[in-house]
Amino acid sequence: MTTETKAPGHLSPSEAVLSSVYQSAARLGLSAEVVDLLRTSWREVRAQLPVRMDNRKLQIFEGYRVQHNGARGPYKGGVRFHPAADLDEVRALAMLMTYKCALMELPFGGAKGGVMCDPTRMSETELNRLTRTYTQHIGMVLGISRDIPAPDMGTNAQTMAWMMDAYGQRYGHTPGIVTGKPVELGGSHGRDQATGRGVAICMREYAAIEGVAPADARVVIQGYGNVGSWTARIAHEMGFRVIAVSDIKGGIVNRAGLDPKALDAWFAVAGSVAGFEGGEPITNTDLLELECDYLVPAALGEVITGENAPRVRARAVIEAANHPVTPEADAVFAARKVPVLPDILVNAGGVTVSYFEWTQNIQQFRWSLETVNSELEKRMVSAFRDLMARAGRDGTLPRQASFDIGVERVGKAILLRGFV
Ligand code: NAD
Repeated sequence: MTTETKAPGHLSPSEAVLSSVYQSAARLGLSAEVVDLLRTSWREVRAQLPVRMDNRKLQIFEGYRVQHNGARGPYKGGVRFHPAADLDEVRALAMLMTYKCALMELPFGGAKGGVMCDPTRMSETELNRLTRTYTQHIGMVLGISRDIPAPDMGTNAQTMAWMMDAYGQRYGHTPGIVTGKPVELGGSHGRDQATGRGVAICMREYAAIEGVAPADARVVIQGYGNVGSWTARIAHEMGFRVIAVSDIKGGIVNRAGLDPKALDAWFAVAGSVAGFEGGEPITNTDLLELECDYLVPAALGEVITGENAPRVRARAVIEAANHPVTPEADAVFAARKVPVLPDILVNAGGVTVSYFEWTQNIQQFRWSLETVNSELEKRMVSAFRDLMARAGRDGTLPRQASFDIGVERVGKAILLRGFV
């Protein structure tokens, strides 16, 4: 939801993130000066992006790059192409990146980019031109030790190849300027599946704490893009029963478990999970309310709100998307004792392998897929266990513990650098 359309009393995306930060700062006893630094972004670039469309008409898009906090290292964060990627949304996502990188102990600060556009209604050549124009307009704030973009919703490895090329034309060949590139251009093995793999690892670790065998756990996933589809495939490999998936065109449910190979074959032809014959159709609204063990929102933010949270029948919510659960919904789940595993842990596999890609580019060296996956496994499991231990020690919810760890590390770096 954009700032302009927010309902009275409803927190905008950045206000929602800040509410978690303020609570952590109070628990940690951070000074008002440190909190003031965290409240705002270090730099926000807003750019006018004129693009000649295929019909020869000029269309002017609006794009952003928000660098929230760089106390722990160069800014890092994805680029989102989406009609709702307004400044407040991008600012919120940049803040989440600051704490996500800190939680995962990656040597990065937090940033995010966005262009308000609908990539599903643009041709490949239009997207290529838009990406190059965007890169030219924000290029001066990027750099291999300054700010390193990556893919997010509506962008992919091809978008990163165009960004790398546009940046290289002006500043010289610099593969490490973006991560999530195609492997042929210096991308890392395993980056495409990394976010979904991290989601599945968190779900597996959580099931182990609950004493639930994967075969006995029914999983529902909203979104079948990069994150949702890889989560489905890897969760299936781990033995989970994925019973429903959806995308923007609709969903499918099969309580006996969906066959991911047949689903992928259907998706390759139809471009959507909707219509797949190995399941019954279901709407996105109903999918979120299906009885299941683990509900994995892996599409948009703010899909579970104070309104529909009382009807969610999952035993736990695993946040694969960024901020899919609003603070109002968090309060409902806390009262109902439905655990929510937070986004800044659950979807951190992507930025973790982006970090591996960046280090490989700097060393001009390549890791095998096995090395990438085993290093990712170690980092995800360690961050998951640290977070659960912190929540147990302090008697906090997992989201609160995740922010406590992230905010504490960023606050320490701010003090050590002498920012305040
Ligand atoms: P994507 O563009 O590849 O896929 C998005 C999916 O969501 C698609 O299946 C699309 O059809 C579906 N969708 C869009 N609007 C919808 C709607 N209104 N209802 C239901 N489904 C809808 O994006 P992605 O990269 O998979 O990202 C998904 C989420 O994960 C985002 O919140 C993103 O910020 C987050 N995330 C992504 C990465 C990454 O590495 N790609 C890393 C961390 C977090």
